[in-house]
Amino acid sequence: MKNIELVFATNNPHKLREASQILGPNIEILMLNEIGCFDEIPEDGATVEANASIKSWYVYRHYQKNCFADDTGLEIDTLGGRPGVFSARYAGENKSFDDNIRKVIYEMKGKTNRRARFRTVISLIIQGKEYFFEGIVEGKIIENKRGNMGFGYDPIFIPNGYSRTFAQMDEAEKNHISHRGIALRKMAEFLEYKKIFEQ
Ligand code: IMP
Repeated sequence: MKNIELVFATNNPHKLREASQILGPNIEILMLNEIGCFDEIPEDGATVEANASIKSWYVYRHYQKNCFADDTGLEIDTLGGRPGVFSARYAGENKSFDDNIRKVIYEMKGKTNRRARFRTVISLIIQGKEYFFEGIVEGKIIENKRGNMGFGYDPIFIPNGYSRTFAQMDEAEKNHISHRGIALRKMAEFLEYKKIFEQ
């Protein structure tokens, strides 16, 4: 594969590091601020697929650059799949990760079914064509926060087969099993398989 450039429609450094590790040295990933994009890209889709797609098309249309965007939802069974597409703003606009966690803990009080999953969808746009990749990690929601690494809902989510939360894992361990890692690896395989940039 040639050295190529892909814009990642994010300004989250956690995500950038994760994507860089997975996509490897042949793909240069640029964050939004590196292409001079400081816009608030709308995330008003009804699903995580729609939001990923809105973000990547926004970048493609405005900057004419091959790009990808991800959107993730925490889907909790006993809450009917919420917070889902509302994960980032579950406790309201401009609320913190902690506020969102507090709301989930409150709503889950006394619930015995703790099953939940993180689901990431990536929309990749190459030369005007869109491709989707999905990554899911199943697990459970615990009653109190544990750990201080990671971000978002990590302190209350234990993936199946583990006894620690995502927030008790270092970046490498979490990335190895994470929803976004799964979706990113699928995209990496696709790019490699299609030799998409050599056509
Ligand atoms: P985004 O679409 O990746 O921005 O994710 C939406 C929201 O889901 C974020 O604001 C976080 O609250 C949550 N989220 C996404 N990825 C993760 C993760 O890896 N761990 C914990 N929470 C996450």
